[in-house]
Amino acid sequence: MLWTKTHIPTLREDPADAEIISHKLLVRAGYIRKLTAGIYNYLPLMQRTLHRVENIVRQEMNVAGAIEITMPVLHPAELWQKTGRWDTVGKEQMRMRDRHQHDMVLGGTHEEVVTWIARGEVRSYRQLPLNLYQIQVKFRDEIRPRFGLMRGREFTMKDAYSFDVDEAGLKIAYRKMAEAYFKIFRRCGFDVKMVESDVGAMGGFAAHEFMVPVETAGGEETILSCSRCDYAANIEKAISVPLTIPKTDEEPRTKELVFTPGMKTIEEVTSFLKQPAEKLVKTMIYLADAKPVAVLIRGDRTINETKLKNHLRCLELEMADPSTIMRLTGAQVGFTGPIGLDNVPIIADPEIKSMVNFVVGANKDDSHIINVNLDDFRIDEYVELRRAEAGEVCPRCGTGHLEAYSGIEVGNLFMLGTKYSEALGAYFVDKDGQERPFVMGSYGIGITRTAQAAVEAFHDDKGIIWPKAIAPYDLHIIPLNMENDQHKQIAFSVMEKLENAGYSVILDDRNERPGVKFNDADLIGMPVRIAIGDKGLKEGIVEIVRRKDLSVEKVPIDNTAEKAIEIFKEL
Ligand code: ATP
Ligand code: MG
Repeated sequence: MLWTKTHIPTLREDPADAEIISHKLLVRAGYIRKLTAGIYNYLPLMQRTLHRVENIVRQEMNVAGAIEITMPVLHPAELWQKTGRWDTVGKEQMRMRDRHQHDMVLGGTHEEVVTWIARGEVRSYRQLPLNLYQIQVKFRDEIRPRFGLMRGREFTMKDAYSFDVDEAGLKIAYRKMAEAYFKIFRRCGFDVKMVESDVGAMGGFAAHEFMVPVETAGGEETILSCSRCDYAANIEKAISVPLTIPKTDEEPRTKELVFTPGMKTIEEVTSFLKQPAEKLVKTMIYLADAKPVAVLIRGDRTINETKLKNHLRCLELEMADPSTIMRLTGAQVGFTGPIGLDNVPIIADPEIKSMVNFVVGANKDDSHIINVNLDDFRIDEYVELRRAEAGEVCPRCGTGHLEAYSGIEVGNLFMLGTKYSEALGAYFVDKDGQERPFVMGSYGIGITRTAQAAVEAFHDDKGIIWPKAIAPYDLHIIPLNMENDQHKQIAFSVMEKLENAGYSVILDDRNERPGVKFNDADLIGMPVRIAIGDKGLKEGIVEIVRRKDLSVEKVPIDNTAEKAIEIFKEL
């Protein structure tokens, strides 16, 4: 492909609205253009990378025995109402009405539709196991679309769904998908990790995520993994081992109101009162489906909101706003405490049980209470809600320690069980003539997110460094001077040889200065580049450059194509 015949609009400046490096690079290198929040055009280079990711996914899904179909993007609302997800997915769902005033949904995932297919088409255990997948656009009205393709409102996903006669069958299907995922992500160049995750609104009983570890800001998820065994979990899901706190022999004292002007945060209160954070109890007020609930946790701990949400079985969980806090406690944010909080249910993390003479907010502006003890207030329920942290002992082996790193979730696996088949009446007849609901699994890969994750994981200060399996082109040829017939002639003949050998090539045929061409080549990131210029030609050589470390090989002109292929293969 000639540069001037395609469209690669590279930019000098980073886009103003991009926060992470991969988003900046994809815009600057001319891969994507934003239409509106979370919705992007994929320009020619992006389109080629997406095709390559899709093809890897498609090949490995086929090898794993999954069958490709295409389901509609538009769904009748009725299906979603039957499974209850019309309410649980709620605002994240893109909805519309047709001309007959029927509610319709733009699909963000396809459990409902695929179960509808199985219900109509699969009658007997003899037709099982079955795994159906598609690669298709999805719509989700994300609360915070951001980071380019990482969290879009329109994006491409591979979604597969397995149907089995029983749980044992589901486990086999699940394992096959996990194996396929390892192959897919390794082919894409990632050192991918499979971690335990929360099932969330999807329902079901087990789930894993595939994470690409990154050291940049693009990692939206935090993963905790054991230093000794293979335990690894999303921090939302990670089990926090109850800590054994040494009993103190401190005698309980009498509580006392103290003046803490403007001291609202844990740091401010601890330094003002000269008390360590372990001596504080934080009181957090949440709204669970609009109903207030107070949660108590030690000052130096963090609440795991996923655990809290699962415990409360609510659809929406958010921190109460300042006016609600004022109404419930009579004080500003920062001075909330459990004493006298009669109108709100109080949940406490069990660690509180062993605390004495601690500090709480006074439900009065600019005031805290010190020397508080458990007898001073009411606790309705103790629930383990502490977020596991790096450095803690591993909940599985009990000897290793948890290490934290950040990652990008590129795919996930869910054991759904019979939630969807029962809700939609999808039954088959088993060996004994009994009707039974399909036992299902659901398996997603974010195609567009995976492509951007590669940029987040592989780049340098000059630009993108594509893993070779998903680069838009394998090789990039740069004739330094397009007005020099010899440069041109060599460039075109090398391109022809490479293309005949089955490689994809971009040739920069612009009348630009060499510096511009080299900068653009570094920016767009093809794995191998061939530069043809006067200096080399005088000595009978061309330069072949590996993008990953910019290392240069000088090779005889006649061997250019063969040498370039050799270098590409060795990457
Ligand atoms: P997240 O926790 O990141 O919101 P999810 O649990 O909603 O993800 P799934 O519904 O299982 O994700 O979607 C499957 C895959 O699709 C994810 O692993 C991710 O790679 C991708 N994905 C999900 N949401 C988005 C999005 N808004 N933009 C791009 N890709 C997405
Ligand atoms: Mg989501």
